[in-house]
Amino acid sequence: MSESTVRIGLVLPDVMGTYGDGGNALVLRQRLRMRGYDAEIVEITLPQPVPNSLDLYALGGAEDSAQRLATRHLQQYPGLQEAAAKGAPVLAICAAIQVLGEWYETAEGERVDGVGLLDATTTPQAKRAIGEVTTTPLLPELTAALTGFENHRGGTKLGGDATPFAKVTRGIGNGIGDGLEGVVQGSVIGTYMHGPALARNPELADLLLTRALGIDSLPPLDLPEVDQLRKERLRT
Ligand code: GLN
Repeated sequence: MSESTVRIGLVLPDVMGTYGDGGNALVLRQRLRMRGYDAEIVEITLPQPVPNSLDLYALGGAEDSAQRLATRHLQQYPGLQEAAAKGAPVLAICAAIQVLGEWYETAEGERVDGVGLLDATTTPQAKRAIGEVTTTPLLPELTAALTGFENHRGGTKLGGDATPFAKVTRGIGNGIGDGLEGVVQGSVIGTYMHGPALARNPELADLLLTRALGIDSLPPLDLPEVDQLRKERLRT
């Protein structure tokens, strides 16, 4: 690893890896390498403290019991919170939104204190939200529609310090009936989209990368297969 290697933290893939969201870190690394950057994934697993010095961080979804373990770990080792306070981009998928929020209630009705990076609270809804979801992003840097696959029982309500990530055009999203999806606060972007989200939404991947690198833009990548799949997913 050289001084200039971009280091992508994949946080707790051993517990928050249930839905394949570790693929987001692979997409980030690959999109960097295709542009000539050195990049590596740093996996932080359960016994390890979370370093606060990485360039960006990705967290995935998980079942309630697994996300409880992750919550405790992040509270014990606050490296992610320190990095976010310094402006390192953080991508939080599904359960990770709930874990990084103020509190969440499990399907069994137990309330768990979250990490407090997001002004968001989560309670179980009557019906599980499962299926394709498409949205219109609300971040000015994003222009393309977003697509993903959602699978969650929790419904997330945002407080005044957080803003929604997108407006739902198909599917459920945050799940409290307000037609909103995901959350943005400081350097954290949270979304319920699995897929992995960054494989389906390259513009979001590049937004995280430009922020991590502190640059305005990256040269475009010509990947017709990705474009084709996006078209199909947005159509169906
Ligand atoms: N356990 C959480 C829920 O059902 C998160 C699920 C997920 O990460 N896909 O709401």
